[in-house]
Order: sequence, then structure tokens, then C-alpha cells
Amino acid sequence: MAHSDRLALPAPAPGTDRHLVVHRFGTSGARPKVWLQAALHADELPGVLVLQQLMTLLDAAERAGTLRGEIAVVPIANPIGLAQNVGGHLVGRFALDGAGNFNRGFVDLRATLAEAAKNRLTDDARANVSLIRGEILRLLHAHAAFEDSEVLKLTLQRGAADADIALDLHCDLQAPLHLYIMPHHAVAFEELAARLAAAAVLTATDSGDVPFDESLTGPWWHLIRSSPDKPIPPDACLAATVELRGERDIDDATAAHDAAALFAWLQSRGAIAGTPPASPPPLCAPTPLEGVDVVRAPAAGLWLPAVEPGARVAAGDAVGTVVGIGDPVPDARTVLRSRVAGVLFARMMPGLVRPGDRVAKIAGSEPLPDRKGKLLGD
Ligand SMILES: [Zn+2]
Repeated sequence: MAHSDRLALPAPAPGTDRHLVVHRFGTSGARPKVWLQAALHADELPGVLVLQQLMTLLDAAERAGTLRGEIAVVPIANPIGLAQNVGGHLVGRFALDGAGNFNRGFVDLRATLAEAAKNRLTDDARANVSLIRGEILRLLHAHAAFEDSEVLKLTLQRGAADADIALDLHCDLQAPLHLYIMPHHAVAFEELAARLAAAAVLTATDSGDVPFDESLTGPWWHLIRSSPDKPIPPDACLAATVELRGERDIDDATAAHDAAALFAWLQSRGAIAGTPPASPPPLCAPTPLEGVDVVRAPAAGLWLPAVEPGARVAAGDAVGTVVGIGDPVPDARTVLRSRVAGVLFARMMPGLVRPGDRVAKIAGSEPLPDRKGKLLGD
């Protein structure tokens, strides 16, 4: 039966303690190994409810003897952020102690793994997978962390590092469901995107600053690129960031849909026995993260969005208006437009914006010349 591990995190102050709780289903060491986590950005809570519902399904599957793989579920991936209540508001994206965005700065193993595996890969793909997983775990266990956000990230990364599949459940401000994946995993994730009714699938090999999913997939991709003469299965480590709509899209019916979709997809991937219901067709084709038009507020004011999350726009369409407030000219308005055609997959809520705020994002199909470097923003 399922059991739960309480992994110790540094005590934030004398007299208190913190743990990361990992619920484990299936058989330890069985494949595929699946790692599912939610609320790494601690104020993004739809995934918490989805994983609570999924655990009910996993518990039933375990009792029925149909779990094939090992499935680890972490509904609260960030107990540090979850405790950051400021003036009645949960502040869960950034560490208040200055340690930065909780989903950036995971250990970047790309260069060190390539060095560690150099001259040790063979013509045996299975042996290579085993070697690579072992080296990744060894490197992560040799890595030291001290400050509490660092320890949290390292604990999560160590837990997921040898998984076949890892899903990191987030949400945006106002959004349809969408995914972030590596480009070469587009086929592997097509069914998941279809079952979840994803409106956009955004691809990048390096979006900058090492978010959790890329800390897992990046080292494999780098090794595949740097060792083209050795067989390394491209899907040996699948990881995605799943954006479960907007931060207020939390309800039982939606979570039940998502949990059932994840369960069916895990059946398709062989982690759970049984034939899943037929998958619907995907709603979208993957598009490059470099093709996302990030519409910014030109000045402070009131943001009035004009396009519903998930709607398609054409290049040149208005996506909303920033109303200058306090200006001497009455009703000074700036209409903001999309440079690309595509799905508006995220927007800020109506209300006050500051200069440079990213008020809307549209998934264009071609890379934009100015989209380079850090593609995710803060
Ligand atoms: Zn997030």
C-alpha cells in the first residue's frame, strides 16, 4: 500500500521544523517511475486539488493490483512558499528572503553530466540509460546546498532525477490549460496535451535559468547532442510543466477531469495497467517558446483585457487597453495589440499594472527575432 516519506528541510527558526511530504504508490524501483508535484509556486493551487483527486484513483488502483510502475506524488512541493503570508496574501512565486523565483535555479547538470559520462557510454541503449541515471543521482547527491530554498530545490530534483516521467503542475494568472516541454518530446506529450485539452504547447530546449522540468530533461538533451554516435533514448526522461489554467480555476469538477486525464495518460505510458478511454484529438500543435509574443504595459495604469484566455487572435488584433490614470488628459488610453497570430494563452487580471508588466501572451508559430535569452521572464 502507499506510504508517505517526510523528507526533512532546514528548520526556518528554532522551535519549528519543515518537511517535504512524498506519497509513494506502487513498487519501489518499478518502471516507469513517475514523479508528480504541485504548488512549487506555492500560490498556484489548482494542481494540489488535482493531485489529491488523483491519489484517490491511485489508491484504488493499488488496492486492485493494477499499478505497474512507481508513482511519487508531492501535492505540496513548496512548504517554504506556502508559509509566506503577507498582509493576508499568499506570496508563493518568489522567496521573501531574496532567494528568487522558486522555479528557477535548479542544479544545472548539463556540462557536469557530459563530463562524467564521457568515454563511458556504449552501444547498449539500456546500459546507457542506467549509467546516465546513476551519474545524475551521484552528481546531485554530491551537490551541497545550505540555504533553505536551495535545499528544497535539491530535494525535489533528487527525488525526480531518475524518473521516466515528471510533471510539475503550475497555473498562470488567467489562462487556458497549456504545457511547456522540450521540442523533441512533442510526440511523447501529444496525448497528454489532448487528454487535458491543452490550448497551447510551448517548446524550448533552454528557456533560461533552469526551471525544474529542464533541470531534469536538459542534461539528457545535452548528452544526446554531444554524443551523437551513442544510443540514448530521447524519451528516457520526459518532463513537462503543466499550467492548469488560471489561479482561480479551482473546483472539484475541473480537478476530477484533470485527474482522470492524468490517470488515463499514465495507463498509456504503462505506469498503470488497463486500457484507457480513447484520447480526443489534440486541440493545438506545439509552438516554439521563441514565438510567444509577450505584450507589455507601456506605462502604469489600469489594464482592461479584451480577449478571453484561450481565444485565437490575428496579428494586429487588440488584446486590451491600458487606461492612464491620474493623467491630465481625460481617458488617456493605449490599445495593445498582438504582433502574432495564435492563441492567447495567458493574461493578467484586470486591474493596476506597472510599466513593463507582461499583460498578455500569445503563442505564435514562428520564432520572433527579439525573443532570445531568458524566455520565461521572472
Ligand atoms: Zn508557476
